[in-house]
Amino acid sequence: MTVPEVSQAPNATTTVVDGVHRLQPTGISILIVGGGIAGLTLANEAWRQGHDVRVLERSPELDVIGDTFGILPPALVTLRHFPSLLQEFEATSYDALFSFYSHVGRKLLGVGEAPWNQPGAKHAAEGVRVPWIRSRYGLVAALEGQVRRLGIPIEYGKNVISYAEDGTKAAVQTDEGRVYHGDLVVAADGVGTKSHKHVLGSVARPISSGAAAYRGMIPISRLKDISDDAKKRYLSSDRPEFRVYLAGRMHMNVIITPDFVNYVLTHEDSGSADEAWRSTLPGSAVLKMIDAVPGWDPALKEIIAQTPEKSVVDWKLLWRNPQPQWSSRLGRVLQLGDSAHSFLPTSGNGATQAMEDALSLATCLALGGKDNIVESVKTHVRLRFERVSALQRFGFVNRQTLHNINVEEFEKNPAIVPMKMSRWIWTHDPVQYAHDNFSKALASIVNGAEFENTNLPTGFKYEPWTIEEELAREEQGLGSTLYSTGDWS
Ligand SMILES: Cc1cc2nc3c(=O)[nH]c(=O)nc-3n(C[C@H](O)[C@H](O)[C@H](O)COP(=O)(O)OP(=O)(O)OC[C@H]3O[C@@H](n4cnc5c(N)ncnc54)[C@H](O)[C@@H]3O)c2cc1C
Repeated sequence: MTVPEVSQAPNATTTVVDGVHRLQPTGISILIVGGGIAGLTLANEAWRQGHDVRVLERSPELDVIGDTFGILPPALVTLRHFPSLLQEFEATSYDALFSFYSHVGRKLLGVGEAPWNQPGAKHAAEGVRVPWIRSRYGLVAALEGQVRRLGIPIEYGKNVISYAEDGTKAAVQTDEGRVYHGDLVVAADGVGTKSHKHVLGSVARPISSGAAAYRGMIPISRLKDISDDAKKRYLSSDRPEFRVYLAGRMHMNVIITPDFVNYVLTHEDSGSADEAWRSTLPGSAVLKMIDAVPGWDPALKEIIAQTPEKSVVDWKLLWRNPQPQWSSRLGRVLQLGDSAHSFLPTSGNGATQAMEDALSLATCLALGGKDNIVESVKTHVRLRFERVSALQRFGFVNRQTLHNINVEEFEKNPAIVPMKMSRWIWTHDPVQYAHDNFSKALASIVNGAEFENTNLPTGFKYEPWTIEEELAREEQGLGSTLYSTGDWS
């Protein structure tokens, strides 16, 4: 087989809607299952790059559940092309300063600005101030607003239960028996995706990590009557804060903003946690859990005690081995975001990689054109898998480091920062990368030509890995070999 002739990226604008310049139509129809972070990002970017898009979402309406997460610059490289979305994005972000604390309330290290916002740093998202922290709901609402303003059809209450395809198109069926088609179907339906059976032939079983995370949000209005000491130490900063509290095999992220305090406590799973954003517990469950380690800062406990009733999510942290097969046998069904690769929160990368996937896919499809959809899908996976897999492992190693850190040693030598966000992660531009590498990666698929990804640390030799191997090394007291090649500075 020869490498198909690849059309150059179309750059002539044909339409402008809401200030977004749409590139030449490609005639490719994409049916997106899941209106979460990956699905909505793909909808907007695919529309901009000239594809025809439609979104099906299971929730009956825009979901207001969720607290905060980080979005790194590579996810935002095309945000400047969406002027009203850019404005909303900036209005809903929390430009926090980052620091480490011991659980008794002593500050160990002030890291300060995100590395990409430090003087002299140049990140991938031109013209965008990228903060550490973002409200998940704020982002979903902003992305969905953009989808609506562009006139992209989005249907709520559509629970997709099965996938099918032939040589020319793919289809899904909802639990109401309705069938929808597209030249390509993208399963962006999160960790519980219904696409595994079609794509992999079986449902991929997640592995329990033995840990879960309590996630709570307290509106600032509920903190009027806390002690002066708690107000002074937690609510007096003129910048939002992102603090990580270390407590042996537990750690708690505390995010303090003018609107709310959000905490995420990673703790041992007693078996009651669920991989769902809906389980609800009282704040007292969190207080009981942290008391297993004596000495937690009383001021922080005072704040946690103000958590609204039954509002804490107990999110089970499950591991899934990296799996390289994101597309179906005939290449017309593709997994995107969490459905292809879930992340531990300690990677700081789950939402970012989901958005990078979306930008890469829209670009590969535009470069390949309507006649080469299947090849473009495979090329996209070739460009993405190793980067994503390395970052999944990075999240795993961060978790090990955080839970094994000796606080006294860390205090004496803060250079051993337990979570490093290396340059290669935040300088990557997934759209430019697809433009620069599409033809070479495609040739490697079509005729086995040599191709090496460069969206990894310089000098890094990608090696397949499994959770079982990492755990076995941990049990033997050996560190991960992740950092043994490549520049991770
Ligand atoms: C309600 C909710 C709240 C969240 N809150 C947080 C948070 O506070 N912090 C954090 O770090 N991460 C949160 N996450 C997870 C985070 O959004 C993802 O890990 C990450 O952003 C990757 O995005 P994704 O689009 O792949 O998956 P998701 O953002 O999980 O999106 C998947 C979407 O697919 C929809 N869907 C699922 N099954 C079907 C189906 N059968 N048919 C149609 N649609 C379907 C879901 O309703 C959801 O909208 C949340 C996820 C959800 C669904």
